[in-house]
Order: sequence, then structure tokens, then C-alpha cells
Amino acid sequence: MNKALFLDRDGVINKEKNYLYKIKDFEFIDGVFEACQNFQKLGYLIIIITNQAGIARGKYSENDFNILTQWMSKEFEKKDIIISKVYHCPHHPDFNGECECRKPKPKMILDAKNDFNIDLTQSILVGDKNSDIEAGITAGIENNYLISTGHKIIINQFNVSMINNLRDLI
Ligand SMILES: [Mg+2]
Repeated sequence: MNKALFLDRDGVINKEKNYLYKIKDFEFIDGVFEACQNFQKLGYLIIIITNQAGIARGKYSENDFNILTQWMSKEFEKKDIIISKVYHCPHHPDFNGECECRKPKPKMILDAKNDFNIDLTQSILVGDKNSDIEAGITAGIENNYLISTGHKIIINQFNVSMINNLRDLI
């Protein structure tokens, strides 16, 4: 079986900006490439799981998202990092009703588990919202890290370790 480093995107890989979809607005956070190179060397697949409700809200299209994702993946490739897959949820309950994939639901993680034969107990998740961590815990990931910038967080709600950025994991 494989193990994976599951990363949220906005606020973990790139600086959080409202309804980000333009390449020019995408800013990598310090330490992301180093951390990914490190975990890749240790044998982890790198998988991104991201809620993209901006698609449901009509702020940007599925195609806009795909263009940004392809560009982002190439930036990782330039650093010899392979992103195995980017899973995204394009829904929002106000626009689509309840979906099965939006975090805190664990479906994107469980899909990745099936697609890549991943042992979740050996895997790691990093997010910047409670919903990321809740998805990880529900899926069965035991090592969940919450980046302590950005959103209001309820630390005691979950058994989770706090970090400042991905570099702290190295
Ligand atoms: Mg986030």
C-alpha cells in the first residue's frame, strides 16, 4: 500500500485569496516545495484536496480551475515534485444542495485512497480549517496538522497538531 501527504490548497499551498483562479494571483507559501520534496523522498504520494465553492457561486469556471491547476502542477514539476492528483469539490450547499464531496465530508480522501491504494493510517493531512481536519479524522487519517494562520480555529475540537507552515513538518 501507499502512503500520502494530503494537502488542502488555499491557505496551505498558496496564500488565501477570495475566489482565486488567476495564475497571476497565485502565491506559493514559503516552505511548500521543500516540504513536498522531503515527503516525496520519504515515499509519500502528494495529493491535493480542495473545496472550490467559487465554481458553484459562478465566480470562476471549472475550466478556469483546471487551467490554474495545470499551471500549479507544472510549477511543482519544475521542483521535481509530482502531484499525484488534485481532487476538488465544485459545490456549495446554497447553490447545489448537499453534495457528497465537500469537506468536512471525507469523500475526496476516500476516493484517493481507492484510486492510489493508500493506507490512511500511514498518511498525513495538512489543512487550515477545521473542516479539513474533520475530513481527515473522519476518513481515518491519524496525523492531522492545522496551519495556524488564516481562519478562526477551534483547536480543542479535534486532536490535531498546530504548525505555522508546511516547512514545520520537515
Ligand atoms: Mg484552505
